[in-house]
Amino acid sequence: MRAGRELRQQVIDTSRALHARGWVANHDGNITVRLASDRFLATPTATSKRDVDARNLIEVDGSGKRVSGTARPFSELNLHFAVHDARDDVHAVIHAHPPYATALACSGSPLLERPFIAEAVVSIGATIPTVPFAVPGPAARDALASVVADVDAALMANHGAIAWGADLEQAYLRLELVEHLARIATLAEATGGVHPLADSAIAPLLQKRAKSGLGKAADKAAGGGERAAVIACAPAPHADVRTVALTKPSSELSKVVREEIVRALREHGGK
Ligand SMILES: [Zn+2]
Repeated sequence: MRAGRELRQQVIDTSRALHARGWVANHDGNITVRLASDRFLATPTATSKRDVDARNLIEVDGSGKRVSGTARPFSELNLHFAVHDARDDVHAVIHAHPPYATALACSGSPLLERPFIAEAVVSIGATIPTVPFAVPGPAARDALASVVADVDAALMANHGAIAWGADLEQAYLRLELVEHLARIATLAEATGGVHPLADSAIAPLLQKRAKSGLGKAADKAAGGGERAAVIACAPAPHADVRTVALTKPSSELSKVVREEIVRALREHGGK
């Protein structure tokens, strides 16, 4: 199976947009789009995103082996698979080094971990975490894999940004929003810094996100119930708030609660 021309063109256009917006330099950045359970369209390695075209796009299987095209697969495929393997609602992943987001990632700033613009909570969720630095390879994959179930974008310390979505456009818009928020947070530092939203404001925004069908499967579950309960997850300061529909089957509810407990333990354990 070969990806359709329209989808290939979309990957080419997105690659060039990453370059044109200054979100990549040299051969930085990469894109994958899931075509089937074991087939992905991918940008080539060692190529400027400005120069991606129909001749150098490749297709790889779930192990990263090239199955179509002539260019070599990029080495950061494992980051993309960390997302694709965990999220069957995701079909596209984009990684780049947009300057403001990457500056926060490289300085260890927590500025994007708490939301400060209401609309962004609806669009991308309550937090954009920074995963700890890990050397490229399995360690970097594992570091990213620890957050992909809970968020739709992340910063990677001393590296860059990565976002994913149901399709390429959604992944791109999320990466754009990450960079936009990073820029705003950075500019606000000159006047005292951003004021995070109160926890009480975040819960209804997450419900709106769920009702709009944005975000991950667990968020969507929250939109279906009349009596949505808000579970404020310990510990602060991440203040990740999860909405759970009480009318959903208890197995689904317990899965969400279990995830939150695991996450809370992980965060406590890391302190
Ligand atoms: Zn990179």
